[in-house]
Amino acid sequence: MCGIVGYIGKDQAAPIILDGLSKLEYRGYDSAGIAVFDGEHICTQKAAGRLAVLEHMTRGGESMKGFSGVGHTRWATHGAPSDLNAHPHTNKKGSIVVVHNGIIENYMALKKKLEKRGYEFTSETDTEVLAHLLDYYYKGNPLEAITKVLHRVEGSYALGILFDDCPDQLFAARKDSPLIVGKSEEGCFIASDVPAILKYTRTVFYLDNQEVAVLRKDNIEFFTVDEEPIEKQAVTIEWDADSAEKAGYEFFMLKEIYEEPKTVTDTISPRIKDGEIRIEELKFTDEELKNIQRIHIVACGSAYHTGVTAKYVIEGLVRIPVEVEVASEFRYRNPIMDPEDLVIVISQSGETADTLEAVRESHKRGLKVLGIVNVVGSSIAREADSVMYTWAGPEISVATTKAYSAPLVALYLLAMKLGRVRGMIDDALFARLLEDIQALPDQIEMLLGQKEKLQHFANRYVAAKEVFFIGRGIDYAIALEGALKLKEISYIHSEAYAAGELKHGTISLIEDGTLVVALATQPELFPKTVSNIVEVKSRGAFVMAVAERGRKEIEKVADYVVYIPYTNSYFANSLAIIPLQLFAYYIAVGRGYDVDHPRNLAKSVTVE
Ligand code: GLU
Repeated sequence: MCGIVGYIGKDQAAPIILDGLSKLEYRGYDSAGIAVFDGEHICTQKAAGRLAVLEHMTRGGESMKGFSGVGHTRWATHGAPSDLNAHPHTNKKGSIVVVHNGIIENYMALKKKLEKRGYEFTSETDTEVLAHLLDYYYKGNPLEAITKVLHRVEGSYALGILFDDCPDQLFAARKDSPLIVGKSEEGCFIASDVPAILKYTRTVFYLDNQEVAVLRKDNIEFFTVDEEPIEKQAVTIEWDADSAEKAGYEFFMLKEIYEEPKTVTDTISPRIKDGEIRIEELKFTDEELKNIQRIHIVACGSAYHTGVTAKYVIEGLVRIPVEVEVASEFRYRNPIMDPEDLVIVISQSGETADTLEAVRESHKRGLKVLGIVNVVGSSIAREADSVMYTWAGPEISVATTKAYSAPLVALYLLAMKLGRVRGMIDDALFARLLEDIQALPDQIEMLLGQKEKLQHFANRYVAAKEVFFIGRGIDYAIALEGALKLKEISYIHSEAYAAGELKHGTISLIEDGTLVVALATQPELFPKTVSNIVEVKSRGAFVMAVAERGRKEIEKVADYVVYIPYTNSYFANSLAIIPLQLFAYYIAVGRGYDVDHPRNLAKSVTVE
């Protein structure tokens, strides 16, 4: 959440900062601001609304001249999205400027103390205390002032700071909110995420918790919170610079849906060698894998839905009990865990605050954690005992698509590996699974070919008031994601129900014309789901069904059917989700919404 970009170097800072922020708008977009040192003072401009307002106000950065600066797109946690609450925040003189991502949890107490000392606050944000506290501690040595402040604050932060006394330096610090530092021939950068600076450099450094970076135009120094200098290794980012561009698509979401065949291939193929699953990064011995008694999958949002699917896949194929839980519940529940259990956490950004805490909570209890993560070098990637990267590349649209499909197949691979090691999958079944998993990218491609048909169908339902998604077993897991996709970008109330559970309450909401999306991909459950379709039809529902190719009988009960190619029932989610993503996308486009930036939402949820 929230995007930070900072630059110091040979080029004009403002255009670089605004361009970087435009790549981070998925992290927050309720207001934006920028501060640039103009050679004498730090000039600040901020505006409520989308980044475009600030871009217009500063003529794309042209009106703010200077070679160092910081910028921010906000996702408000404390105080309404307004001009005043937008970042950067400054001390009274405007000589110290701060942009912040995260929450300062003890800001009330700090604010009270500062007010007693005569400091006046102009915003409702927690962030403003940082600017005044820096002012309070600043006696000519910025590093000393910053570290003193870091010792006083509780909570999470990624910070970009300028002091007009030190025009040749830009300062950064972080704790529990992401921040990277980049270096090119032309200058040095800070950013919340890689896409912001990918155009300028691939050489980045990852700041660890409570570390401070001091950037000059041609060098970077790193310090601990106690001002001890530290050495850091640069990492080279492999992502393709074009992956953060729209490449002619109207929205990133559609582009990213179209990238799913490649994402699935990139996640699967390096891990299949000589007819076996080889997950080299899995730092567990076969003995450890054999001894796992139980698996806890912890994640949030769509990643949680991949976990729900994995429960069915792992329990079905490997017979290890799997518990799936949303991270924000897990961490406060005092869960019952055994040291021989394995914890799997799933997060696209690798920065999801609740999921990161679940890693820490599991470590406290002596459990090993496997992270399934997209962003290389992210906090979860660094803190988990073992990481399986999903090679999805940057995902810019807030609503996830390819970064849902990638962990899904990573989890299938893991299930197959576990099943092999534990002797639960014989050669014949393994060969079939291998063939089916490798067929997925082409099958997804085929489904993408049906986009016009889905667009046409979606156009009929743009005015829907509510939509129910139903399914059994893995189909229920698919329904959960289908409903979330629709509600998050189209704002149509949509809910997923286990199809058999409908009659225990929800069926009372079905009336003439209610749209019900029925998932019926699981052969063993097919007749049961068909009965549930008939039940809703009898009450006036209009039914869109997603079923396996060849199940023609479904046309007798459903009004509209999308067929998915044959696959192993365990992998059906990877195919059935494609028409549901396209359906949600076209409904949102049909309603005229900004699909990539749904209201109130942001990606990479780094607050609790
Ligand atoms: N807590 C800060 C605010 O509400 C920062 C929010 C953010 O990360 O965008 O302004």
